[in-house]
Amino acid sequence: MRLSPQQADRAVGALLGAAAGDALGVPYEYGSRPVEGEPQMLGGGLGGLAPGQWSDDTEMAAVIARVAATGADLGSEEALEAVAQGFLGWCAADPPDVGIQTRRVLSAVGDGPVAPQLRAAAAHLHARTGRTAGNGSLMRTSPVALAHLGDPDALAGAARAISELTHHDPVAGDACVLWCLAIDTAVRTGELDVHVGLPRVDATWGALLEEAEALEPSHLAHSNGWVVSALQGAWSAITHTSTLEAGLVAAVAGGGDTDTVASIAGALLGARHGGSAVPFRWRRLLHGWPDLRARDLSRLALLTVGQGRPDQDGWPGTMTYAVAAGEVVAHPDDPGVLLGAVGTLRPGVADAVVSLCRLGDDVPLEGVAPQDHIEVWIVDKEDANIDLRAAVTDAAAAVQALRAEGKSVLLHCVHAQTRTPVVAAAYGALVTGTSEVEALRRVQQVLPSGRSPRPSIAAVLQG
Ligand SMILES: [Mg+2]
Repeated sequence: MRLSPQQADRAVGALLGAAAGDALGVPYEYGSRPVEGEPQMLGGGLGGLAPGQWSDDTEMAAVIARVAATGADLGSEEALEAVAQGFLGWCAADPPDVGIQTRRVLSAVGDGPVAPQLRAAAAHLHARTGRTAGNGSLMRTSPVALAHLGDPDALAGAARAISELTHHDPVAGDACVLWCLAIDTAVRTGELDVHVGLPRVDATWGALLEEAEALEPSHLAHSNGWVVSALQGAWSAITHTSTLEAGLVAAVAGGGDTDTVASIAGALLGARHGGSAVPFRWRRLLHGWPDLRARDLSRLALLTVGQGRPDQDGWPGTMTYAVAAGEVVAHPDDPGVLLGAVGTLRPGVADAVVSLCRLGDDVPLEGVAPQDHIEVWIVDKEDANIDLRAAVTDAAAAVQALRAEGKSVLLHCVHAQTRTPVVAAAYGALVTGTSEVEALRRVQQVLPSGRSPRPSIAAVLQG
């Protein structure tokens, strides 16, 4: 499906939001640490993770995303086999946290095709215990939605089939169908509507959603290892807040299986508000198996919605900008911040980089630690940004945070004509206390292009 810039931002958000919720909830899982003040990506938790490290929720989603990013039809037996093998490979890498039900199913596999064995083991476990509706298939479902945007039949079929690899109970499948269809709707339209999938699931779900809307997330915490309470907790956190950040905080503060409930909430919140709504301080820390960071999740999301292919500019693969190297100039209010076009991005130019344009996978960033390269989603077109003001504020805050760590910073976009001066002005206002419009005048005097920034973008600056 060909996506607008806002839709692409929201597709990325489905994966980034889920990963952010996961890593934000990790420290507090089942009360391993009390939530005091604003939750933070401190690591720890039941798996002893590093700060910003995601857990099994995102690890298993990454398995699905890597198959989806090839352009595979996730409902096909071939793709299900690839996902099943990916789950086994993940489990064999001895992750610090594996759900009880998932581990029991994955450990039952012998020789031969894996997917049929997983389904059989999941069915056997269900026949024996009658209780296989854990939240472990819902927590990993976000990539499925991206693989089948705008095709509810294929989407519902794939969501249920991937759920059934480990979770035989149709309640778990129902939850995945409901959530995926809500993610699909949010990515395409920007609307939050979890009811859109109700005709495809058991009739009890309508009342369960109503109940979630009436309850605070904490009222569901005692049972949110169960997929119904986990979905209700996530939906409750979303309906009681109005931003991605607040929704994730509410999901974590609700308690219980905090990483999973926040990850489920994050998938839908990101699909609604965009990856650009995940603040840089969270994007910067995010990482986890299999050696991925936030930019890799973005890449997987974009390739998935592109059915395995980069867009017409080559993004998110190799991108070539026809921009001469050019010179960097020092920010008039802080000589430790360098301003430039994309051609100035070369090894050794600065300790840290804040990129305001799309970059491919061939970025010359030797010498810059991955957490010191911050990419901010700002599109230099009219009406192409979900929340331009928030993105400019986030980018300026990123520059300020890196400078507070004593690092020199290159701030760049493609031509250093609009995005770079606008963010540089927001940063200049932060460090001088003058207005952003005045700061923009100072920035424009040092930039070599001499051309004014696009008015519709510069209009977000405050006079
Ligand atoms: Mg987890």
